[in-house]
Amino acid sequence: MSVQHKGALALVTGGASGIGFAISRKLGEIGFKVAIGDLKNYEASAQELRNSGLEVVGLPLDVTDWDSCGRFVQNAMSHLGTDHVDVLVNNAGVIRDNLLIKMTREDWDIVIKVHLYGAFNMTKHVVDSMISKQHGRIINMSSLSWTGNVGQANYASAKAGLIGFTKTLSKELGRYNVTVNAISPGFIDTPMTRTVPEKVREKFMDRLSIRRIGQPEDVANLVAFLATDQASYITGEVIGVTGGLTF
Ligand code: NAP
Repeated sequence: MSVQHKGALALVTGGASGIGFAISRKLGEIGFKVAIGDLKNYEASAQELRNSGLEVVGLPLDVTDWDSCGRFVQNAMSHLGTDHVDVLVNNAGVIRDNLLIKMTREDWDIVIKVHLYGAFNMTKHVVDSMISKQHGRIINMSSLSWTGNVGQANYASAKAGLIGFTKTLSKELGRYNVTVNAISPGFIDTPMTRTVPEKVREKFMDRLSIRRIGQPEDVANLVAFLATDQASYITGEVIGVTGGLTF
């Protein structure tokens, strides 16, 4: 894809690892300035992308913390020399899988906080600037698990909540040319899924139409498209990147 977005700023939460890192690389490659926000490894990840000639900064971010989100947005704009945010990718995530009967309150809280409060906190800090620019892209990382998946009551609830958030914001913000979409990946090879036992991974293989585990780049390619002007008439959608996986 050619460079089309010189100077536009994209924020990627959870951008130091897995899918977020691939998104950061891809957005950088198509010309965005990118700010990676993460709990750790943000600087090393950004340096790796800078070594490839991309304009990327890595900054500390805890999406569950309102003030941390505000600082991240301000720091990203000042480091990258711009006064507004063009693209927000709400990608940070955690899993704490367990059957409901064994799930602790802490496992419930942290998953809801990272995904739902995280997307709310970050979106609140960029939305005014998108409205005043009459342009913006918000991309929320949901999951196929939103449809229900054994052992993931917390995660499925958070990811389903993100879809309600996406669809509502798309209705509120469309008049300002701010599009809001959700991506629903299936099983993607990242540090998050590498903890899944081999037996369970094999089960996933049986349920795939395309007989390979997804790669972070499979998701990043869709994010890159949604971030561009080519996707200006797509909003309120939940788009799967699943290789045909069903649960
Ligand atoms: P990953 O490699 O674990 O990356 C997630 C990143 O988010 C990590 O760097 C993590 O940091 C960071 N993070 C966690 N809590 C955070 C917080 N409070 N503030 C800021 N950053 C935080 O996982 P991934 O597979 O790339 O997942 C990316 C997104 O895709 C997640 O939303 C996930 O739910 C979603 N997704 C993944 C799959 C899949 O198959 N991999 C499928 C569907 C959806 P730590 O490592 O320090 O926790």
